[in-house]
Amino acid sequence: MGVQTVTLAEIEEARRAVTGRILRTPTVPSPSLSELMGLPVHLKLEHRQTTGSFKLRGASNALSRLSSEEKRLGVTAASTGNHGRALAHAARLEGVRTIICMSRLVPANKVDEIRRLGAEIRIVGNSQDDAQEEVDRLVSEDGLVMVPPFDNPAIIAGQGTMGLEIVEDVPDVDTILVPVSGGGLAAGVAAAVKALRPQAKIIGVSMSAGAAMRASLDAGRPVLVEESHSLADSLGGGIGLDNRFTFAMVRDLLDDILLLSEDEIAAGISHAYAMEREIIEGAAAVGIGAILAGGIEAAGPVVAILSGRNIDMKQHRRVVCGDAYRQEA
Ligand SMILES: *Cc1c(COP(=O)(O)O)cnc(C)c1O
Repeated sequence: MGVQTVTLAEIEEARRAVTGRILRTPTVPSPSLSELMGLPVHLKLEHRQTTGSFKLRGASNALSRLSSEEKRLGVTAASTGNHGRALAHAARLEGVRTIICMSRLVPANKVDEIRRLGAEIRIVGNSQDDAQEEVDRLVSEDGLVMVPPFDNPAIIAGQGTMGLEIVEDVPDVDTILVPVSGGGLAAGVAAAVKALRPQAKIIGVSMSAGAAMRASLDAGRPVLVEESHSLADSLGGGIGLDNRFTFAMVRDLLDDILLLSEDEIAAGISHAYAMEREIIEGAAAVGIGAILAGGIEAAGPVVAILSGRNIDMKQHRRVVCGDAYRQEA
């Protein structure tokens, strides 16, 4: 088949590796969204995961696969925040040194959190790609092991464990709304769900401001996009011009990728807070935002993945109070 992919067996193996290291998060019905859609709508409360996002699934699985020599040398990653947090936490549990590289666009609260979790921090450049260059240097000069945020089979399989849980909790699921940036979450969830329930649709959702995966799918190959500020800051960053796994998997397994405006993302955050009593970050709000915008048609139960909660609380307050939330670029 040429295309490199991740199988259901690898995802089931990942589940054995991460059990006890991550939380099995609940899937709950949303009465308000169910009424709006005239269908059962469920929320996968993955923002309650340890470290505040699903990224702990992939990071824990990747660490479980390291040799003792690799653990001795340490791990490194470029991260817009949540992957760095997850890797720092997972590595500290194993007693492994972590150096996290990130661009200046990453919000200060995320940088501080990662430092508190025990990682060393390097701030480099204005883009994910600049941060990645520093990671490459640490790998070639100091022998650290890179744990990438999405384009890696162990990461994809780890994120895919969430797909197993969704099918267990909502066996007749018709449509799953999954936030997409680099596509590790979407690829893993889609690989698990399409293997267990081929008729289920997987709809990716991202922000209009710099959606690299959607631009790449439109171009037929990975392309660069300009990074810009978004409420969904965890969805920023490219997919890598040398993408090996997630581009092809997302292309082959997802049914569509929708893009939301900043106001539609803000509406998702506000709805989660006012109606569901959940504090979520912009990236996690795109599924709810897409439903509220009227962009989702389904023939049966819908599951929206709430992927993280690591939002600056001052910004969250501005959003839910309806104040101006845009940041200066
Ligand atoms: C990383 C992240 C995403 C996007 O995941 P990808 O695997 O890069 O597509 C979505 N939501 C949150 C909260 C994240 O941290």
